[in-house]
Amino acid sequence: MGKSLRDAKAALFRKLRREVGNERVMRAMEQTHREMFVPPDHRSAAYEDAPLPIGQGQTISQPFIVALMTAALRLSPTDTVLEVGTGSGYQAAILSHLVPRGRVVTVERIHTLARRAEGLLRSLQIHNVQVLAAGPDLGCPEQAPYDAIIVTAAAPKLPQSLLDQLAVGGRIIIPVGGAEEQELVWAMRTGEGVSFSFDKGPCRFVPLIGREAWPGPPA
Ligand code: SAH
Repeated sequence: MGKSLRDAKAALFRKLRREVGNERVMRAMEQTHREMFVPPDHRSAAYEDAPLPIGQGQTISQPFIVALMTAALRLSPTDTVLEVGTGSGYQAAILSHLVPRGRVVTVERIHTLARRAEGLLRSLQIHNVQVLAAGPDLGCPEQAPYDAIIVTAAAPKLPQSLLDQLAVGGRIIIPVGGAEEQELVWAMRTGEGVSFSFDKGPCRFVPLIGREAWPGPPA
């Protein structure tokens, strides 16, 4: 890594430690080299606190939002985690470091992105992440229940089908709102039902497409 990228990375992590904290999440993010997940022509901007294009009209999320959402999942090392929206594979790689004795299932509806992310994760020797093509239902009900679900695309409402894929005690974090702006909604499935909190936004994500989400072109 060149000096300017190294300096930018150090500055970014000083900012994230101030704004989000959570040392386990900080270490998992530091271990995950964001410059490897962005296209070559954006590599010099890899440690700016901003989303970046990854092709196919999609984006890799802003590091601050990644840190905030990851911390909100409250992961234990043995957890099984579902990510909806693999994109570049960056978020999945971070999750893999936080569940070394658990596993990550990540689903993506654009096949070229899924294949690229899978190849990259494999080349990084990350073996506890399974990259799957999104099916007709949101998430991956076949492998439920999950201890945590992170949705990295924006939904018009909190999809019941994803709540149904949570274990009791399982947490979900998802951007919910209109096309232009959303807020991060956090929920936990309890023995009695679901408990919510809404105070983590605002943010702006690409749309979640599918049943219980936004209509979109066929993948
Ligand atoms: N987490 C990613 C960024 C994701 S961008 C990263 O770390 O790089 C959001 C992704 O969600 C896009 O790639 C988009 O194709 C995908 N997506 C949208 N709707 C989806 C659905 N219903 N199931 C799975 N993936 C979906």
